[in-house]
Amino acid sequence: MTTRTLTTIGFDADDTLWQNEQYYRLTETHFTELLAEFADGPKISERLLEAEKRNLRHYGFGIKGFTLSMIETAIEITDGKVPGDIIAQILDTGRDLLSHPVETLPHVRETLEALARNYLLVMITKGDLFDQERKLAQSGLGDFFHAVEIVSDKTAVTYRRVFSKIGGGPERAMMVGNSLKSDIVPAIAAGSYGVFVPHELTWVLEHVDEPKDAPRFRKIPHLGELRGLIDGLE
Ligand SMILES: [Mg+2]
Repeated sequence: MTTRTLTTIGFDADDTLWQNEQYYRLTETHFTELLAEFADGPKISERLLEAEKRNLRHYGFGIKGFTLSMIETAIEITDGKVPGDIIAQILDTGRDLLSHPVETLPHVRETLEALARNYLLVMITKGDLFDQERKLAQSGLGDFFHAVEIVSDKTAVTYRRVFSKIGGGPERAMMVGNSLKSDIVPAIAAGSYGVFVPHELTWVLEHVDEPKDAPRFRKIPHLGELRGLIDGLE
């Protein structure tokens, strides 16, 4: 048996394995339409983003926090006069987001299937526990993963902890994802490889600059190129 450089490959889930942000964008559009008589769309979106930023530290990432931020924004935009039926529709639209279909991205299944033969695969994701468990179950990808970590935030400490527990430590691990801020920069800080797979839609709060002078930083256009990249490292 050959000794491999890597033992463990971490995968982000939302917009790396399956579509996610597009459903938030649709929900946000619907939300701005519900409040159209009180303010214009861009203004509402701006206030919503401010509320989301403020609330991250209270509610964490995911749909429940997003729904509460929509309600908070509705109260602000209407100076406290938001009608009860609009609140009810905001709650409905948040619940719809919790039941959207799971659409896996191209190359995901065959890539996971092949890599799972030689590596320990770990799904590492933020978001609501129920929602991520539902999406994993519906995706049919669960069997490829050795472990699933649903975490409140993704920092270097998170990656060090997960990759120390599973496989040969952070230096022998790789993190793959669409968020430079959550998936790539902190994984590289932990000593792992960070493979950035950009998605055309990525939440504005997940944007940071690509790391410079980082020998363990990689970027590929889609997951179909991951196996070739890994073969090149081994
Ligand atoms: Mg993501």
